[in-house]
Amino acid sequence: MFTNNLLATFSLVVLAATAVPVDESWLQPRDSEVHELFYKRAPNPSDSNFASNYPAPGSSPPTDSLPQAWLDKLKSITLPDIKPSNPNNGYPTYADGETPQDQHICSFTYECTTDEDLYNPPSGTFALSFDDGPTNVSPDLYDYLASNNISTAVTHFMIGGNIVYDPFGMQAAAKAGGHLAVHTWSHQYTTTLSNEQVLGELGWTMQIISDLNGGRIPKYWRPPYGDVDNRVRAIAKGVFGLETVVWNTDSSDWAIGGNPQYTHDSVVSQVNQWLSGSKDKGLLLLEHESKDTTVAVFKAILPSIRSNGWTIKNVADAFHMDWYVNAGKTNTEAITTMSVGASTFAVTNSTSQQSSTSASASTTGSASTTSSASQAPSSTSTTAATAAAAVSSGSGSSSSASSTLLLPGYAMAGLGFLAALFV
Ligand SMILES: [Zn+2]
Repeated sequence: MFTNNLLATFSLVVLAATAVPVDESWLQPRDSEVHELFYKRAPNPSDSNFASNYPAPGSSPPTDSLPQAWLDKLKSITLPDIKPSNPNNGYPTYADGETPQDQHICSFTYECTTDEDLYNPPSGTFALSFDDGPTNVSPDLYDYLASNNISTAVTHFMIGGNIVYDPFGMQAAAKAGGHLAVHTWSHQYTTTLSNEQVLGELGWTMQIISDLNGGRIPKYWRPPYGDVDNRVRAIAKGVFGLETVVWNTDSSDWAIGGNPQYTHDSVVSQVNQWLSGSKDKGLLLLEHESKDTTVAVFKAILPSIRSNGWTIKNVADAFHMDWYVNAGKTNTEAITTMSVGASTFAVTNSTSQQSSTSASASTTGSASTTSSASQAPSSTSTTAATAAAAVSSGSGSSSSASSTLLLPGYAMAGLGFLAALFV
């Protein structure tokens, strides 16, 4: 007895001596994988050295200073044999004459999707999301969402480099009850990046969002310009447990002011046509919180979303999935202790039976679809064909086939958009 107590006391002393002096109120237990990949790194955002805890905004995080746990996790997973693409001005090309739309590469830039991509919500559901925040127009958008009582029915795909500039902007979205997700650190075409660069783009954005949102680890990401392939999907899911979210309809709000073909009126008119069409397929509309003009589009279409009877939900709720890797719904629900990554998904402990069950179900399902996407080409091929058909039929309007995605054009315009973001 005495010996045991003495040992216990000794252990406590050792722990106290080696413990990292950080706020552990929201942390995972030290023996959980979440803790290994993401522990609290930054002090309060009002501290003057806040930004020094993260990579510089505006470019891919350096690969020589990535957390070792991320690199180790990357080494532990099997990636499809796909080399980084060549940028080619927004039309990424691949070596050896491989076609990006085939099931091996499955580039969404070329309209290929996999079983596990999220882009077709259930019938009647309008999945609401905004990319590229936080920006100087975000407060206006958040006021509008609040005044219409839909602050919690939105997913914000945020840019890590923007959050460093405006941590309180990100926290305003969280405090309003919004669902936070990842839009990479520096808004690059992710298929052009090395494995380690993808790791940094995703990992650091997850890190800063969790630091500023009570340790809640993002579960969803959207590739900038929709540029994702099976190599990048595998890193996102296998290392970090991220679900890839694209879209089934592009509002083209981003093109206003850049392409004379797109004006406020023309964009709103097209979206209204989709909104008044069939609701057999849900709508996941690409929208942005980047400029006054993009926010103005949403203000103009919200009345139509409602009058046409759509049910507005954030992306996680639209697909009946948890909001975060380690938390169920909302930004206040207790954090669970989950492993991260497709190969080792398991709920090691949970604060409630309900969240344990739902977390286990969603992550197990995701892990199995990951392997089907990368290991069962025939299945993926069928999915891609189905998806292409779904994309072509848009949200019920037959005229949406050419105007829904416009991916190459979008990708091209995206270059200018990227420049505008960071100049
Ligand atoms: Zn974007």
